[in-house]
Amino acid sequence: MERCGKQENTMKNSGLNADKTEAREFQTPSSGIFFKADRVLCEKTTAFQRVEIIDNAAFGRVLLLDGLVQTTEMDEFNYHEMLVHPACSSHPAPRNVLVIGGGDGGALGEVLKHAVEKAVLVEIDSGVIEACREFFPWLEPALKDSRSELVIGDGNAFVRDTDLRFDAVLVDSSDPVGPSTVLHDEGFYAGLKRILNPGGVIAAQAGSPVLHLDALTAKSLFLKRLFKYSRYYLGPVPTYPVGTWCYHFLSDVFDPLDGRDLRIPAGLKYYNAEIHTAAFALPNYLRCLA
Ligand code: SAM
Repeated sequence: MERCGKQENTMKNSGLNADKTEAREFQTPSSGIFFKADRVLCEKTTAFQRVEIIDNAAFGRVLLLDGLVQTTEMDEFNYHEMLVHPACSSHPAPRNVLVIGGGDGGALGEVLKHAVEKAVLVEIDSGVIEACREFFPWLEPALKDSRSELVIGDGNAFVRDTDLRFDAVLVDSSDPVGPSTVLHDEGFYAGLKRILNPGGVIAAQAGSPVLHLDALTAKSLFLKRLFKYSRYYLGPVPTYPVGTWCYHFLSDVFDPLDGRDLRIPAGLKYYNAEIHTAAFALPNYLRCLA
């Protein structure tokens, strides 16, 4: 079986076809997902990547970076709630939270639903922030929140150099190609461990459990060495390869399976206490990794 998917799709860096009526992501060399483009709202090449935003009748605004779907207006809550709330709801009081990547602002918006004092977003590409500020309605209010701080820079360098400490870190990286490659390395995670407050938690997007199994296997080997609790969990993201996405929960103190009281903000669309428990139930081929 071909296993290319988002993580290795470097065949082209634009999702749009020649007449700009359609955006396609090749999730493997021979299969993928397509969106009719009612309008092309943004297309530009930044120092880091090709940024495209289209309007699609079914999914609303769709953001593609280098031809890979990052988020859509219609299904973003599935991904952003599952990236943020299992970690932030497990921590008794996440006051200082760091988001690495996440230039579309969806993860930051979810973090601000908790009683945080400070939420720092470190995004490498100001071009993504500018485009999403204009075309994704949730980013501007999240950035304007007095608790938010935006840093434009490399997440790996920020983690290496910062004196700040965090109760929760969310890694909302792109897949391991281009500037995001470093955010999937052991050295980066060792750095994250260094900047956690005692009792801190980390959640990271980890890829497709079907198409990226080799990467998930390699990562779990070093993450198990670094953290006492290193567990994968799953959630649906209809517009990501094969529709189910994998996340990592990392902590030296909290086992997400210990049945603790979760502090879940009101008004979420997807995540709740039952989903939390269910998300950590893994198929046999992943269970051996977690
Ligand atoms: N969850 C999404 C996915 O899997 O498709 C990722 C969404 S978010 C838009 C990813 C962001 O990470 C991008 O805006 C990208 O510019 C940013 N990024 C990539 N490498 C980075 C780095 N080294 N430091 C900080 N941000 C980075």
